[in-house]
Amino acid sequence: MCIFQQTGNSIINCVCQLINRAFKAYLAIKVGRKGREEKMNRYDRQERVKQIGQIGQSKIRQATILIAGVGALGTYAAEQLTRAGIGHLILVDPDTVTLTNLQRQSLFTEADVASHKLKVTAAKEHLTAINSAVDIQVYPEPLTDSHLADLTFDLTLDCLDNYSARDLLNRAAIIHGFDYVFASCAGSFGNVMPISPIKHPCLNCAFPNLADLKRTDCDLIGVNTALVPLVSAVQVSVALHYLVDPSTVDFDHLITLDNWSLSQQKFQVLKAPDCPTCANRNWSVTKSTDQESLRVLCGTQTYAVTQSGKHLVTATKQLLAAHKVPFNVFKNFIQFHWMGSSMSLFKNGKLLLYGIADLQTADERYQQFKAALSTYQEVQSS
Ligand SMILES: [Zn+2]
Repeated sequence: MCIFQQTGNSIINCVCQLINRAFKAYLAIKVGRKGREEKMNRYDRQERVKQIGQIGQSKIRQATILIAGVGALGTYAAEQLTRAGIGHLILVDPDTVTLTNLQRQSLFTEADVASHKLKVTAAKEHLTAINSAVDIQVYPEPLTDSHLADLTFDLTLDCLDNYSARDLLNRAAIIHGFDYVFASCAGSFGNVMPISPIKHPCLNCAFPNLADLKRTDCDLIGVNTALVPLVSAVQVSVALHYLVDPSTVDFDHLITLDNWSLSQQKFQVLKAPDCPTCANRNWSVTKSTDQESLRVLCGTQTYAVTQSGKHLVTATKQLLAAHKVPFNVFKNFIQFHWMGSSMSLFKNGKLLLYGIADLQTADERYQQFKAALSTYQEVQSS
């Protein structure tokens, strides 16, 4: 770049060259400083928010959040927290990415659909590309009490899609004494409520018809695409507030949003003295949501069953190798395709079948796989 044009006069030319060199040196210093500032102070705009500041940002950087469900709400929450500079994320979701997810779930792409990628795996890849400083642990399995009892975190976000899992989370929060932020989306209507169930209302206090909601888990009424980021922004706002200053979080109100009528309301929720969940704790958390028979994970096209037997993963690897079927090996499970269906088999015997339209077809695929494995084991032992 030249700010002075050279002339025929040698003295003037010399002065011009000196000025140009000085100007280039100034630009280089300015650009270099700007680059260093951006690198050093990535969170400058958030630190300028008076309620957060550098101290609040430091708290966010040191915090761990467990995101239960990496679907519509979970992907938006994970992305916002990653951009906000969260220190650690724990992602729990058993599902793979399907085409119908893309309408409302951020982070995922058509390439993820084509490769039948696990949601937690795809999310981690995209989140790491956004902010490589965030530590992300992934659990490609249904949420169980073990996650909530054994993992260390500061807060959980309820980004689940069914009330059976929400009931599990609510009870675990009471037993293990942690706080979480409930959120839900259906149609054009969303809910958000911070829950600290030891001293404040639990989810069952807010929704005394929780048992009925569990029975209607699979009756999806769809969700407006634009509702999800709206509800997620409120949920993540509560989360950041909690990490920075938990003593001022309001645990006694349910926030409702409607992105069609564009209305927002806040309802006070009282801790029910006769709440069957938080007032009367004569129950224990189910260790797992799995059952012996094949069942649908509500709101998804994923089916789960826990198989009995020993060395199932080893036997399945041998079966797949014998049929020249490729498979991916992970720490606790293997992933493969069998008769056109994507499946994951875990070391504890749990089998997940993905992307199947109905339970009957899923059961047929499961029985085919089970029969093939059984036949292979019989041949090997004879
Ligand atoms: Zn309660």
